[in-house]
Amino acid sequence: MAIRDYYEVLGIERGASDAQIKKAFRRLAQQWHPDVNQDEAAAQRFKEISEAYQVLSDPERRQRYDLFGSVEGGDPMAGGFAGFADIFDAFFGAAGAGGGGRRGRPAAGADLRYDLRITFEEAVLGTEKEIEFPVLGRCDTCGGSGAKAGTQPTTCPQCNGRGEVRAVRQTMLGQMINVTPCPRCRGEGRIVESPCETCGGEGRTERRRTLRVTIPAGIDEGHQIRLANEGEVGRRGGPAGSLYVAVHVAPHAVLKREGTELIFEANVGLAQAALGTTITVPTVEGEEDVEIRPGTQPGTEIRLRGRGAPYLRRGGQRGDLHVIVEVAVPARLTKSQREALQASAKATGEVVNEATGLLDRVRDKLA
Ligand SMILES: [Zn+2]
Ligand SMILES: [Zn+2]
Repeated sequence: MAIRDYYEVLGIERGASDAQIKKAFRRLAQQWHPDVNQDEAAAQRFKEISEAYQVLSDPERRQRYDLFGSVEGGDPMAGGFAGFADIFDAFFGAAGAGGGGRRGRPAAGADLRYDLRITFEEAVLGTEKEIEFPVLGRCDTCGGSGAKAGTQPTTCPQCNGRGEVRAVRQTMLGQMINVTPCPRCRGEGRIVESPCETCGGEGRTERRRTLRVTIPAGIDEGHQIRLANEGEVGRRGGPAGSLYVAVHVAPHAVLKREGTELIFEANVGLAQAALGTTITVPTVEGEEDVEIRPGTQPGTEIRLRGRGAPYLRRGGQRGDLHVIVEVAVPARLTKSQREALQASAKATGEVVNEATGLLDRVRDKLA
């Protein structure tokens, strides 16, 4: 790849002063830094600009470039940059670099996950469950501050309560500011001189908590219920995380579920399908009688409307229960069954070639 002329890249004259070079770089860096400019070409453009600046801002390398049109050394980024963030910090301060976060106050506690097993019926109809789990809660002795009774946490002397420390270093780009969480107070901005004896200064203790959880009707395998503020509390008064109740639904013995739809495979006999009958279908509310009409074909679907699972976000509306009728053809026939079927075939003019059934007939005779 051809290297573009460094003066051209920065948009400056060959005789530009150090101040002009620096000014041009600042202007272009603000325009092309990938944190600011989302354009795909921006990262490449920014790299070119940085490279040009690194060479032209160094009198020795600039002189060599002016004489020979190139500079030795393969990697132009090897001149002391840790990366974009460093350059960005140097010019815009840490706040602009996307770092920082929430410093100077206690961090939030961790989220928790509880795996809850419920039955198929409970998932469809909804239920309430009591769950018990260990959790880090606010220390009752110190109220979460971590300070011994009669004392208060004090402002951290190392960071003056800011929770972060800045280290300034000089580089060829000028001042670079490194911002890190304060090591003394761990970013909290406050320190506890005499720790609470109950919690050792943490501001939280482990206990068992019991909660009643409402499981909405229609919930399904793998769904999670989020209970805000029921997770661990943070250190020293930090806000609590969330509790996620992960729901696991036990399979039903005969019903299958696809979202809001329930499916039941009903096995009926040849005569039942042909002559009609009444079968019993299990639903989540109990058994229900369903009519099989005379002449029902294999694969026929009978819908029990509104007997499926509720839609979670449509008040009260439920899916259907689909009864799929499977017709069982008898695998073996008694003599009288065979005669009845032969008579039936004769009546309908159905041609029956029974040669392959010879073995069965011999077996029947011996029985
Ligand atoms: Zn305490
Ligand atoms: Zn501090």
